[in-house]
Amino acid sequence: MMKRFICFLFILFLMPLCAFAEDMNNETELGGRLFLINREHPIGKDYFPRDLMEPKVLGGGEATRMRPEAAAALEEMFAAAKEEGLYLAAVSGYRSYGQQASIFERKLEKVDKQTAMRTVAPAGCSEHQLGLAMDLGTKKETRLTEAFARTPEGQWVAANAHRFGFIIRYKAEWEAVTGYAWEPWHIRYVGKTHARKIYELNIPLEEYIDRQAGSYVVVEEEGENTR
Ligand SMILES: [Zn+2]
Repeated sequence: MMKRFICFLFILFLMPLCAFAEDMNNETELGGRLFLINREHPIGKDYFPRDLMEPKVLGGGEATRMRPEAAAALEEMFAAAKEEGLYLAAVSGYRSYGQQASIFERKLEKVDKQTAMRTVAPAGCSEHQLGLAMDLGTKKETRLTEAFARTPEGQWVAANAHRFGFIIRYKAEWEAVTGYAWEPWHIRYVGKTHARKIYELNIPLEEYIDRQAGSYVVVEEEGENTR
């Protein structure tokens, strides 16, 4: 009897742990909420999330599609901001490999390669291809500049996005790790639990995944082609 009881307890407590470990593995795989994409971890041109949808928010449309869970979270976030009299606008959501390639090429026509590399993701290296990222503006201003951080909307996003499952993906102090310049307008969906932890720890996604899985090693970037 006692043996059975211990066995029961064992199963009761161990099963959820195993399930969580499994979840973490799935979450960091392609299609998962914690999937890491950056210049050192690119994805191929064939990845296309098939469940994209247009969030029903200001600015929402073809160009702002996201995966359903992220789109729903975005709607929830915009509604909460609106209750405080703040009007966010969706500017850019899902972008295909091809679209990202053209954006990068257009940038290269205007600036030197080094600047292009730190401000625009080359094709296959953008989170937008996952359908889990959104660039935000306001009702008045949809150009993506650092000025967004100084608007009431930008300040609200920085303080509240995690409550809806989003993280500010590229902070100035993380540039050496993320490889990208400060983008106060770019949010990435990771789900509420992870977003809250990342917000509290105040660390880049790279480091968070590293701490969770213990398998990802941050490689310092060097040279003109990597930054
Ligand atoms: Zn972005």
